[in-house]
Amino acid sequence: AEPLLEIRDLVVEFAGDEGAVRAVDGVAYSVRPGEILGVVGESGSGKSVTAMSVLGLIRRPGRIVGGEIRLRGRDLLGLTHRQMREIRGNQVAMIFQDPMTALNPVMTVGAQIIEALRLHDRKMSRAAARERAVELLTSVGVPQPEVRVGQYPHEFSGGMRQRAMIAIAIANRPQLLIADEPTTALDVTVQAQVLDLLRDARDTTGAATVIITHDLGVVAELADSVVVMYAGRVVEQAAVSELFAAPRHPYTLGLLAGVPTSEDEDEDDDDLASIPGTPPDMAHPPAGCAFHPRCPIARDRCRTERPPLAQAAPGHRSACHYADELVGATARDLFATV
Ligand code: SF4
Ligand code: MG
Repeated sequence: AEPLLEIRDLVVEFAGDEGAVRAVDGVAYSVRPGEILGVVGESGSGKSVTAMSVLGLIRRPGRIVGGEIRLRGRDLLGLTHRQMREIRGNQVAMIFQDPMTALNPVMTVGAQIIEALRLHDRKMSRAAARERAVELLTSVGVPQPEVRVGQYPHEFSGGMRQRAMIAIAIANRPQLLIADEPTTALDVTVQAQVLDLLRDARDTTGAATVIITHDLGVVAELADSVVVMYAGRVVEQAAVSELFAAPRHPYTLGLLAGVPTSEDEDEDDDDLASIPGTPPDMAHPPAGCAFHPRCPIARDRCRTERPPLAQAAPGHRSACHYADELVGATARDLFATV
């Protein structure tokens, strides 16, 4: 199918004291209708800034300085604020990590769903909207929806608030759903329920879904394909099964080393292997491959020459000069000795 969302060569900069900081540097990815794309990276990798760009929510000192974002072929970067607001209410919806920042604390949950519905369909009666709000709360598994519809966000638990936000997000059957760390603030059991809910939302609405996370476990659970970001760039992209079976970027291998496996005896073990070093200071990104200061197989060339995102296997791209050497490598091979 044709991509629903297509991002090409996106560049986003933030003005700072020492000049512009490039938070997103040439990002490209696309999502087809009904596909769930996981976008993975540490904080500061540019994954959220890319999503905010799609939503038209980049504000000063941030600025989109290059690239294209197309929704069903329509160029979103050329739209006015007003046109973009309309798209946000109808075709594209967002689910945030913290529902308290997204929900209005002084409006009942029901009133917020009704507002979303009537913004989309001005002819919908209040009664019909209320009925639909109850239906939506039911569909996201909120118990006693007839009572809950009249309650305020603070009367909901964290998990219930996340369900309410999903209800608002899917109220107008958006074509594209963007969820930024939707389960990070939740405990493990509720996390699994919310992921199920996002999968149901995709199944019932056919929406393309972008799920932004630092957690490869979430990607394994939910996504069809995955984009791995580092220092404002895409470093690897593949189908989820392919990425987990045959990763072709050292950073991805490092992330995989941090994912608990059935071999880890103690589930509470925080000492799982993780990538040594820290994410780069984006005001002074490393030359060449931005991952080189942390990469166990970096060579001289990596310090000067930036690797392009190139095909590593069919449908699989990696931005590493030595991607071919990683065939058959495991995270433990690569990171055990560092
Ligand atoms: Fe490591 Fe070099 Fe590949 Fe970058 S290009 S990930 S530094 S081997
Ligand atoms: Mg973020």
